[in-house]
Amino acid sequence: MDLTQDVISGNRLALSRLLTLIENQDERGLSALDELYPRTGTAHIVGITGPSGSGKSTLVNRLALDLVDRKEKKTAIIAVDPTSPFSGGALLGDRVRMRDLSERPEIFIRSMATRGALGGLARATGEAALAMDAAGYEVILVETVGAGQSEVEIARLAHTTVVIEAPGLGDDVQAAKAGILEIADILAVNKSDKPNASITANALKAMLEIGEELRKASGEEDMHWTVPVLQVSALNGEGITELSDEIARHRDWLKKSGAWESRSRDRSIDLVERLLKEKLFDEWRGRVDKEGFEQAIAKVNGRVLSPRQALEILLQRSSKN
Ligand code: GDP
Repeated sequence: MDLTQDVISGNRLALSRLLTLIENQDERGLSALDELYPRTGTAHIVGITGPSGSGKSTLVNRLALDLVDRKEKKTAIIAVDPTSPFSGGALLGDRVRMRDLSERPEIFIRSMATRGALGGLARATGEAALAMDAAGYEVILVETVGAGQSEVEIARLAHTTVVIEAPGLGDDVQAAKAGILEIADILAVNKSDKPNASITANALKAMLEIGEELRKASGEEDMHWTVPVLQVSALNGEGITELSDEIARHRDWLKKSGAWESRSRDRSIDLVERLLKEKLFDEWRGRVDKEGFEQAIAKVNGRVLSPRQALEILLQRSSKN
């Protein structure tokens, strides 16, 4: 069986297998990805983030169905869970979701969980998105829990970032506290079937307006995207069409303004630099003597050497090995 050919031809089982190999950083998976790479670059990657309980999973399911039914787009979902040690759909919630969507051959859903460092999760998510792109999925929805650094890392992967809020999650707007408003291209207030949803939406609009004023004052370019605030309800489907249309409109804007190209270039730089740093560090760590390293750390800690001085000594020692 030729894994890459099977993935290209749309075999779901082959894609699942490839994703597992990638998640385990198995060489067979990574080299398959090398082969598939020329076939990537067309999928629209959409990050969906927001606090836990805001209704992301429910919303993402609705959105996927809209994309497939109304827009006829092959859609994949990556559900990223930075806190869970499980993977491959072992979570109860995922099982329920998979049952809901499993009868739809145009929708592919996969969950990913922590593998070591956060950076590792961001990388594995990026690689999974490439595999899905090569497999012909036109829209890839990447869902993350609003927990801070991981969103920001994963948002860098997305072309479009949707931040989900909901009324009644706290007395203040959660996203603003976590500082994730800055990464939003689109803001959606979910649970708009609830009475106080418009209060949350207005609070968000007010915050965004401050940002707009600052931007105008700094005289930034006019090819600017103004972040829309939408009210939606994943429960009764209200506003989902509009959200889906705004996502498509953002993609058009990215293409027209040249931002698609520049973001794509930034991502390429990011991917190569990340690999380079990891590789160089691993190589260096293989060469440096552990005892010398411990000594240097102890000296830094004891204020005998500054971190920069310690680095110089370590680099000299390892270049002799
Ligand atoms: P997540 O943690 O952000 O993925 O949130 P879930 O999708 O698991 O939803 C959390 C809870 O909110 C569940 O009980 C959902 O049924 C409920 N929920 C989701 N969307 C809506 C909505 O639009 N309106 C209302 N009233 N409840 C919703």
